[in-house]
Amino acid sequence: MIKKKYIDLLRVEPGKKIHLKDYDTGWTQTEEFKEFGKDKLKARANEVLQQNLTDLTQVQQLLYADNRYSLLIVFQAMDAAGKDGTIKHVMSGVNPQGCQVFSFKKPSSEDLDHNFLWRYMKSLPERGRIGIFNRSYYEDVLVVKVHPELLQNLPDGKKGKSFWEDRYDDINAFEHHLQRTGTVILKFFLNVSKKEQKERFMERLDRPEKNWKFSGADLAEREHWDDYMGAYDDALNATSTKWAPWYIIPADNKWATRALVADIITSTLQDLDLKFPELNDEQLKYLEVARKTLDDE
Ligand code: ATP
Ligand code: MG
Repeated sequence: MIKKKYIDLLRVEPGKKIHLKDYDTGWTQTEEFKEFGKDKLKARANEVLQQNLTDLTQVQQLLYADNRYSLLIVFQAMDAAGKDGTIKHVMSGVNPQGCQVFSFKKPSSEDLDHNFLWRYMKSLPERGRIGIFNRSYYEDVLVVKVHPELLQNLPDGKKGKSFWEDRYDDINAFEHHLQRTGTVILKFFLNVSKKEQKERFMERLDRPEKNWKFSGADLAEREHWDDYMGAYDDALNATSTKWAPWYIIPADNKWATRALVADIITSTLQDLDLKFPELNDEQLKYLEVARKTLDDE
């Protein structure tokens, strides 16, 4: 387990104003990093990841059996920050029956003909399950805020001054409703630096087996880096709540990203009052009858 004091540093405290530029993208600010150096810390992070994966497998079975809570995990990030790889690694030990990943791309015309939360509501995790949103309704206050021309078909007068504030309020209310009805929500912003994004794009160009991952659209969005950081600052400040906190995860070192995300997911589930369902006297009696029936065959 990673020390709680480090995890606390990553959580955006509700009501506290943060700026992403104050956050380290490399996970180098800890005492451990200074004491052990990068290589040792990386080895330790990988050990933490392995332990968490084992623990996560167990606690997920319990979540499934308990069947009262669901877990919604939201991932948001700039391109090449490592969302896909993090999901793949962190969920590698989880029973596929208990987990679903939804990757949200550009909305369809049917999506755009509904309220902005509609398509996400249809993909929420059932009780006992883990649902992962690879991008989410937060795109509607991020990419759409950076490119307001994406807003379509709204009645006149609905795009007034409080437009974005209203969307944050709607998101907070939506998440509060989910929390009140048994959904635990974790939100991760994978915080990659502009410099590291360039390295990763370069790697996609340099390595033939990674060429397919390169997209001209990613380069175009990189031009809007500062606007995105502004939109992220606003969204993180407005929507980190007690019931659905944001975590700003350093993403320049993949080993740190994965260990931190796995640790937060595992400890959040372990902190729930999960239990295997207990049978009442009548059900126990029935088991005895069943045993006898089988014995007598
Ligand atoms: P990868 O590149 O690893 O496959 P990705 O999540 O970047 O993953 P892409 O298909 O490259 O997937 O990009 C999806 C695009 O869809 C992003 O540019 C994102 O901003 C856009 N998008 C997602 N949700 C919305 C939305 N609600 N409105 C407008 N654009 C959206
Ligand atoms: Mg992409």
